[in-house]
Amino acid sequence: MILDGRRAAEVLKQNLISEFAYLKENDIKPKMAIVLPLSNDASFSYLKARRKIAELLGVEIVEFYGQEDYSTSDYLDIIQKLNDDKSIHGIMLDRPFPKNIDEDQVYQALDYRKDVDGCNPISAGLLLQGKPSLAPSTARAILELMKFYGINLLGKNVTVVGRSRTVGMPTAQLLIKENSTVTICHSKTMNLADKCMTADIIIAAIGKRDFFTPEFVTSKSIIIDVGINYDDLGKMCGDVRKDVYDIVDSYSPVPGGVGPLTNVALMYNLLDAISKQK
Ligand code: NAP
Repeated sequence: MILDGRRAAEVLKQNLISEFAYLKENDIKPKMAIVLPLSNDASFSYLKARRKIAELLGVEIVEFYGQEDYSTSDYLDIIQKLNDDKSIHGIMLDRPFPKNIDEDQVYQALDYRKDVDGCNPISAGLLLQGKPSLAPSTARAILELMKFYGINLLGKNVTVVGRSRTVGMPTAQLLIKENSTVTICHSKTMNLADKCMTADIIIAAIGKRDFFTPEFVTSKSIIIDVGINYDDLGKMCGDVRKDVYDIVDSYSPVPGGVGPLTNVALMYNLLDAISKQK
């Protein structure tokens, strides 16, 4: 079965429309700030998609651009103003940051109640403790995709390949919260193919094109491809080689799997952020 993220996103957007309409009825005007680097084309393509979903839901987006010569204190000033502004419910800091920025300081400065992409250490700590928290939107998108397709996570063995703080680790934490048994793998993991093959579900999140080949899966595997890579013709592709699709029980493709759900997840996080600030 194909785990079609575009289809899931269309349905979940309808839920979001009614949730945001309810806010409007209660005189809440949702507003999200996005701070992004001026010099990055990828950020602008993500921004276009975010503007589109925001318009659909009646969310006001305000944009701040980090110039290439900005220092950490320039960024901290922007964040402080956004933290203090009561009309702003969510703040999203887009990577990559301009080169002089201390990422950790910037994330720490963010008010965790407005941290719609789950980057602040308090958000990460709450997630680790299994408490309500704003999880990074990609991790939430992975969960939303599996839930949409009714994949039962309870007691399942899930191998997460990748341990980044924005994708692998928070995905593992969300899965533990769903009562899955999680194995986290990374570049130093031995016998990785065995750890994937014996799992019910594999989350492939390493950013290496065609890395996951038939030797990593069985006919019972569910494989979620999170990787974003480009082939020699510049076409987007994932971490999973296409011949894996013919073997497994279910897979999410790239493009069209997790990606379309990340902005949906971001908007769910914005709803959660608004409820934290009431
Ligand atoms: P990252 O920060 O570079 O982390 C990559 C992780 O993969 C690291 O933990 C690394 O292990 C592990 N890894 C690298 N090579 C490996 C190997 N040969 N075997 C096992 N593990 C290996 O990347 P990220 O930010 O987590 O993103 C991962 C991928 O997801 C990228 O392709 C990114 O573009 C994509 N992504 C997609 C979305 C979406 O919306 N679909 C959103 C965000 C990111 P070590 O820790 O040992 O170095």
